[in-house]
Amino acid sequence: MHAAVFLDRDNTLIENDADLGDPARVRLVEGVGPPLGRLRDAGYLLVVVTNQGGVARGRFREADVEAVNRRVARALDDAARRCRLVERFYYCPYHPQATISRYRRDHPWRKPNPGMLLAAAQDLGLDLARSWLIGDQPRDIQAGRAAGCATILLGDEPVSNGKTAKTLREAVGIILGSG
Ligand SMILES: [Mg+2]
Repeated sequence: MHAAVFLDRDNTLIENDADLGDPARVRLVEGVGPPLGRLRDAGYLLVVVTNQGGVARGRFREADVEAVNRRVARALDDAARRCRLVERFYYCPYHPQATISRYRRDHPWRKPNPGMLLAAAQDLGLDLARSWLIGDQPRDIQAGRAAGCATILLGDEPVSNGKTAKTLREAVGIILGSG
């Protein structure tokens, strides 16, 4: 079984404080390519797990999320000088306060629920106990823990209950230093 590193997308891999449905506006966070390449070299599968409640709020469509994800994949490949650096993208379009009724529910895939990680484990044959999650929000960390993964919260503030790192590069250093 493979170990994975689950990666949040917005403000972990790309700069995005708002709803992003336009692939032309994809901007990678500075310096994320090479460290992700090192994780692949170490044998980790990279899996992106992203809440996209903008779909539920009618800001953009699922097809737009998929277009953005394809652009993110290509930008990461370019930055890391790899091919298919990211194994797979999972996104959750549901939101409990959706304006579009078919998306209005607290779906098991919506972080802090661990559904996207559990689905990836099933699809890709992952060993969750040897896997990690990196994200910039507490709900990312909750999802990782609920799936049985080790977690690293990105940010400037140290927290008492868990590992933190200021940058993705630093987080990757923690993961590669842990084995
Ligand atoms: Mg985020």
